[in-house]
Amino acid sequence: MAPVTTTSTTTTQRTVLTGARVVLPSGVVEGGRITVDGTRIAPNEQAEQATHDLAGQGCTIVPGFVDLHNHGGGGASFTSGTAEDVLTAVRTHRAHGTTTLVASTVTESLDFLAKQAALLSELVEQGDLAGIHFEGPFISPCRKGAHDESLLRHPDPADVRALVAAARGAARMVTLAAELPGGIDSVRLLADLGVIAAVGHTDATYEQTVEAIDAGATVATHLFNAMPPLQHREPGPIAALLEDERVTVELINDGTHLHPSVLELAFGSAGPARVALITDAMDAAGFGDGLYDLGPLKVEVRQGVARLVEGGSIAGSTLTLDTAFKRAVTLDGIALPDAVQAISANPARLLGLSDRIGSLEPGKDADLVVLDGDYEVVGVMRKGEWVVRPA
Ligand SMILES: [Zn+2]
Repeated sequence: MAPVTTTSTTTTQRTVLTGARVVLPSGVVEGGRITVDGTRIAPNEQAEQATHDLAGQGCTIVPGFVDLHNHGGGGASFTSGTAEDVLTAVRTHRAHGTTTLVASTVTESLDFLAKQAALLSELVEQGDLAGIHFEGPFISPCRKGAHDESLLRHPDPADVRALVAAARGAARMVTLAAELPGGIDSVRLLADLGVIAAVGHTDATYEQTVEAIDAGATVATHLFNAMPPLQHREPGPIAALLEDERVTVELINDGTHLHPSVLELAFGSAGPARVALITDAMDAAGFGDGLYDLGPLKVEVRQGVARLVEGGSIAGSTLTLDTAFKRAVTLDGIALPDAVQAISANPARLLGLSDRIGSLEPGKDADLVVLDGDYEVVGVMRKGEWVVRPA
């Protein structure tokens, strides 16, 4: 009997990208090279032939985007969706370069949230999501934004603990108004549990915000939005969050939530190591205008801007991170490595995943985005597999 012959190419799959500008932690390399072996980035071997030569196309390769704050997309919601809906939203954002995503919920009853957390935790276990972020119900009625006021509650540490437990180890962040009764104790509890306490939807003073940070809060939920504005005699939470080295500030760079000059101001003030670009996306992201539900509330999306039908409050965004990134580097004057840090490395660090994702280094997951000369996505790879294959 003749021996069966197999080709060695079926055993390990190597992808070699050349001829693009590559953004590495050490700096930007023109005409760089990225080698992928299986699911991970491998050291380059200069003699190895390119599988994708991108020379002459003006392409830039950056690490896969990491979204800390995202409520859905593709017509599907993380708060109310089935497992299939959740995957639809995940795939929608993945095609826009978001290779790691935390699912955010909006205010619902504690029972409702506990049930949805159990569903989401299974998708975290499978690796489709990087965790759960509870935005509400422990927020201020004065700064409720697009959350149902009738379901808001004080952050009672027992309730916070029960909600985190319902997520079966998948809770990564809780946004709360720390000035409410139980707020500071809840921040301490979250810090003890290894869950990020995020200050947001808050009516806190400067002093109350400093107290929350001292108690362990490390993230500002969409800085500037759903909190008192910065005033020269009443600095409020914004100044406290911007000035403290322990805090990373989330920014929604869709041109609606923040004026470009305010984005630039926040970037300059906090520094690129303390900014996380997020979407705060809702179901309409990557889908289109129309009528949607945001938890129990009705939302109308017109020309990409989501507003509550009742009252007209901004209700999340329809942003995807590729657009946030393109705006940062083309409109807002953010340097390319700084934008990469804010959209990949910083959120990866907050999630405790810096050893696996957040930068293009050998040994890390092969999560990357290929952008063309206009910073439009032409390729997305996640764990070594093309989600969007470059032409
Ligand atoms: Zn949100």
